Amino acid sequence: MAASGEPGRQRQEAAAAVVVVGSCMTDLVSLTPRLPKTGETIHGHKFFIGFGGKGANQCVQAARLGAKTAMVCKVGKDSFGNDYIENFKQNDISTEFTYQTKDAATGTASIIVNKEGQNIIVIVAGANLLLNTEDLREASNAISSAKVMICQLEVTPATSLEALTMARSSGVKTLFNPAPATADLDPRFYTLSDVFCCNETEAEILTSLVVSSPADAEKAALVLLERGCRVVIITLGAAGCVFLSQAEPVPKYIPTEKVKAVDTTGAGDSFVGALAFYLAYYPNLSLEEMLKRSSFIATVSVQAAGTQSSYPHKKDLPLYLF
Ligand code: ADP
Repeated sequence: MAASGEPGRQRQEAAAAVVVVGSCMTDLVSLTPRLPKTGETIHGHKFFIGFGGKGANQCVQAARLGAKTAMVCKVGKDSFGNDYIENFKQNDISTEFTYQTKDAATGTASIIVNKEGQNIIVIVAGANLLLNTEDLREASNAISSAKVMICQLEVTPATSLEALTMARSSGVKTLFNPAPATADLDPRFYTLSDVFCCNETEAEILTSLVVSSPADAEKAALVLLERGCRVVIITLGAAGCVFLSQAEPVPKYIPTEKVKAVDTTGAGDSFVGALAFYLAYYPNLSLEEMLKRSSFIATVSVQAAGTQSSYPHKKDLPLYLF
């Protein structure tokens, strides 16, 4: 069942320009002096709940820049699921295709962080893995009338592939973020990607090359481009990103501003969400300019704590970005 209380009203509204088919995870974060040993119980000094999941993060960033967005995803029929739907509404994201299931719990990431910032994390994807092709069919009008559709790999590969296939067959631009990456990625993910955007670790897993500098990333990007994507972008944390395209197959490096990073969690999702916004609303900008602006926005996000809580809104950003 879709979560919207007023589906009729939502259907009459303009279509979402950015549709995300992906994951929602509730982050359960405990701060402790040290990490517990097997069988040990220790006291932490702080606990908080955060909204995460790559799909939802990217959707929230695009929405905060002013994109009309819809989230195609599945949460549990539980309090975390209800809270997540409320979070989407707070961010002006359409929940018409945010499904709730009784058959699994909302996805969670249980995270323990010690004083040194080291962590241990257990992810239970739960309801995310139940998002299926029937759900996509229900959302097919929203997908086919979008300008850009984003997918990642935190729902089943079959669901992501079907979403990309639906978008491609309707002429909707596909932005694929192969995260978390696996070395045996189905080759169709490359040919179905208008834009293939990954970080350096993911590029290493996908190409088996070492990626620890912009020059390395340029080589890896060429390998990924040969697999059939139209544009490849590799983000490099504080070093920025490299990109190339079938139209201009010469890799280019875009450095980023030096800033004092407070928390880089979710920076890549901020980058991808911002890029979707530019692809949908400023299609005539050069790819290089879109990436400079997306990188700037991700750089803003690393200067505040948390994941979605660090993502900037349009009103907090310089006017020249819009
Ligand atoms: P992920 O979060 O997927 O690992 P990255 O770490 O590559 O992604 O970050 C994505 C983008 O966020 C970078 O291209 C850059 O624009 C910005 N960014 C990340 N870390 C920093 C940092 N320490 N300083 C400045 N910008 C950063």
